[in-house]
Amino acid sequence: MNICPRIEVNLNKIRHNTKVLKELCEKSNIMLAGVTKVFCAIPEVAKEIVKGGVDMLADSRIENLKKLKDINIPKLLLRLPMNSRVEDVVRYADISLNSELKTIESLSNEAIKQNKVHNIVLMVDLGDLREGVWRSDVVDTVKEILKFKGVKLIGIGTNLTCYGGVIPSKENLGWLSELANTIEKEFGITLEIISGGNSSSLHLLEKGEMPEKINHLRPGEAILLGRETAYGKVIKDTYQDAFTFVAEIIELKEKPSIPIGEIGMDAFGNKPTFADKGIRKRAILAVGRQDVSVENLIPIDKNIEILGASSDHLILDVTDVQKDLKVGDEIRFNVEYGALLQLSTSEYIHKSIQ
Ligand SMILES: *Cc1c(COP(=O)(O)O)cnc(C)c1O
Repeated sequence: MNICPRIEVNLNKIRHNTKVLKELCEKSNIMLAGVTKVFCAIPEVAKEIVKGGVDMLADSRIENLKKLKDINIPKLLLRLPMNSRVEDVVRYADISLNSELKTIESLSNEAIKQNKVHNIVLMVDLGDLREGVWRSDVVDTVKEILKFKGVKLIGIGTNLTCYGGVIPSKENLGWLSELANTIEKEFGITLEIISGGNSSSLHLLEKGEMPEKINHLRPGEAILLGRETAYGKVIKDTYQDAFTFVAEIIELKEKPSIPIGEIGMDAFGNKPTFADKGIRKRAILAVGRQDVSVENLIPIDKNIEILGASSDHLILDVTDVQKDLKVGDEIRFNVEYGALLQLSTSEYIHKSIQ
């Protein structure tokens, strides 16, 4: 049934994109973790990513990994675990990214209780200033981790271009490679995973500049929207429209382009400004900021302009649309990452898996 508003998910396109990424990674001996958080880990979609050839599924939220428990593939928890939730972390994640000894100790104790060994990837901050142990503290931290019997240190990793916007490079990922060598020599262990980041690291593969030791990546956006995120470029042979957003016109009228009366604040406390384009044909769609960051929606019909939105209403200028629009018609949009994230999370948006 075509319920509005809805996000349409094209499973073939997602599987195709995953295959392209898998081939790209395979050429450089890199394991691929498929990140499911932007679509809230809908199991049918995650299954296509698995069919596309990923080596593991990864998500930042334990609730999402729980949804994936029946898919038989290793699961990686991306966000540092909360101490209060280690029971579920050990139960639903095979591997977690970590940076705090206190948490690693809790995970170890819990794993012993559950008769398991929980796998740890130690996160290293290479300068983006989100999670991770500072480089100079890595060796001391590893020494401590190795004392805990319920966990196994299987690798190190980093995350870039998320908070600080730092772009992965031969140089900074080179530091991670060197650290891996140092740890292996110093402690006589082998690290299975050297995880070189998210969709922003892919440009190094294309340029052939990925340091050799890096053998694992964790892309989400690149698989789902076919885009690398260091420079925002489209990845060759991938689809950007595996997800499409559809909303319905609930009002269609000709109105002036400047409000009548003294201008105070809009619904969000901002003072709006307007350009006078005369009388325009305007459509209101039944969706709003409660469901989507409208700045990240792109009308597929290039003649449509997004004018603004309040909590539940999205206002469009449709004057230049060729086709004869009517109340009840659907308007389609391509989505950027921020829109997809919110649309997936909103319970008011129907998910149409195709
Ligand atoms: C979200 C996230 C990813 C995936 O990021 P994309 O930009 O979607 O590729 C990878 N690693 C970590 C730690 C994350 O939080």
